[in-house]
Amino acid sequence: MFTMTKNVVTNLLRKSSTRLYPVEVRGNFDGYRGRLDNKIEDCIFCGMCQRKCPSQCIAVDMKAGVWECDPYACVYCGVCVDHCPTKCLSMSKEHRKATPGKDLIHLQGTPRVKKKPAAPAPDAAPGAAPEADSGETA
Ligand code: SF4
Ligand code: SF4
Repeated sequence: MFTMTKNVVTNLLRKSSTRLYPVEVRGNFDGYRGRLDNKIEDCIFCGMCQRKCPSQCIAVDMKAGVWECDPYACVYCGVCVDHCPTKCLSMSKEHRKATPGKDLIHLQGTPRVKKKPAAPAPDAAPGAAPEADSGETA
């Protein structure tokens, strides 16, 4: 009886071990993988994330400059973040908000323009000096 009374009194005087959720919400720990973000201005649409993703939930359209991800198929492993060459992918420790629809993340960036190979020089005799433009008009 004495032991029980002692425990009750001790527990009443001690700080609570639980929180008053949802009034008091504990923040997520550092390093927690809650949401995948892409800083699209830095994306070069190389497609590395798409190739490395184990759940195949990323689609990259290099020509159109579009990056898409299905957040409901993502397993938040962080492999894409580790392999992104420009480090534009990152994991936020905050969760995405709950939504009624299963929308894709669709980000539009600036497509990469492939450099055209330099045009071949016009036919000219080897060693001949290029024709100078006189600037005169007929
Ligand atoms: S790996 Fe990075 S830079 Fe390449 S397409 Fe994916 S997000 Fe863009
Ligand atoms: S976190 Fe993993 S599953 Fe999600 S998009 Fe990146 S590689 Fe794919």
